[in-house]
Amino acid sequence: GPPLDVAALRAQFPVLHQQVNGYPLVYLDNAASCQKPEAVIEAEAACYREYYANIHRGVHALSQRCTTAFEGAREKVQRFLNAERDGEIVFLRGTTEAINLVAHSYVEPLLQPGDEILISYLEHHSNIVPWQMVCERTGAELRVIPVQDNGELDLEAFQALLSDRTRFLSVGHVSNALGTVNPVRWMIEQAHARDIPVLLDGAQAVPHGPVDVRELDCDFYAFSGHKLYGPTGVGVLYGRHDLLKGMRPWQGGGDMIRTVSFEKTLYAEPPARFEAGTPNIAGAIALGAAVDWVQAVGLEAIAAHEARLLDYATERLGALEGVRLLGTAPDKAAVLSFVMDEAHPHDIGTILDQQGVAIRTGHHCAEPVMKRFNVPATARASFAAYNTEAEVDALVEGVEKVRELFGG
Ligand code: PMP
Repeated sequence: GPPLDVAALRAQFPVLHQQVNGYPLVYLDNAASCQKPEAVIEAEAACYREYYANIHRGVHALSQRCTTAFEGAREKVQRFLNAERDGEIVFLRGTTEAINLVAHSYVEPLLQPGDEILISYLEHHSNIVPWQMVCERTGAELRVIPVQDNGELDLEAFQALLSDRTRFLSVGHVSNALGTVNPVRWMIEQAHARDIPVLLDGAQAVPHGPVDVRELDCDFYAFSGHKLYGPTGVGVLYGRHDLLKGMRPWQGGGDMIRTVSFEKTLYAEPPARFEAGTPNIAGAIALGAAVDWVQAVGLEAIAAHEARLLDYATERLGALEGVRLLGTAPDKAAVLSFVMDEAHPHDIGTILDQQGVAIRTGHHCAEPVMKRFNVPATARASFAAYNTEAEVDALVEGVEKVRELFGG
């Protein structure tokens, strides 16, 4: 397809057009959260301005209109992921809540003491801690796929870790700390050959390329709206219909029941069973608009654009003395993590900010992988569709400034 018209894209993002500390803002913190186009801001505002009401069971016009928009957003997400039915899409707060739901409602009831849950060294804390909590409650054990020096998972070790005791595999599609794209299609095949169901943490994958849950053949897929040009406070769990159908509820409340009496309450079918209480109605509708937006721009085109930026940034930053890139896997998405000999990541981030360049510094909620690479933290630049080569140049100039100041 044709390359992105980045200038036209940028014009759609109001927040990008400002000065920070006297410099034009260069926003390279997209893996933490990305900015929102007018279409998304407007969809959320229009809901509140024009037709907002609580959804489901309302007989009045606004409630029906709002319900239609909310359920329409679910269908957009269904098509976006190529799920078989809209009932496989559960609206939640985000990736974190989605993983916690699967841990509580699907995996925990399967577990006996000595059973194993398999994750990887690259995981975000939200794909570690819920499993530790489940293990604590059940006597199951957490097993961890090691990572190689270039940031790729050790796939031989992965195969060796799959055992008769493995009950579940939960793995990131794309690493937020290093950008590694894991060979998840193949990993799912390996797990399924042993009847082990698989959840993919897609928080860092969906903004950067097409995802097809049926082609991947995953059992669950989780992502967050705010990393996909959508609002905060809303995200998605995709779950295979037959699995969702058998799952116990997590939170109880309104909207997740069929009938309630003090003698016996009957639960609603999925997805309602897992959407207790009033959901983030306007947020889900705006997430639907974000899905429309990325699809109109084209995920293939976004992926190609970001790959060019990543190559360019890797080459330029990699050429600087005293700068070490972490994560050099051949298959990477949109993330450049680095450390410098002289400067702590926190200092790098502060000095870059003084030049209007926003990056993230710290452990990126992935402390185990930091430990694996013997660093307390990294500086991380991460790209979105609206970033440019000139912004990579600003990043590199900023890093050169850090070297000057810290005597490199
Ligand atoms: N997994 C990954 C790979 C992430 O990058 C993030 C967000 N940094 C999360 C999970 C958690 O997402 P959220 O905070 O939106 O629930």
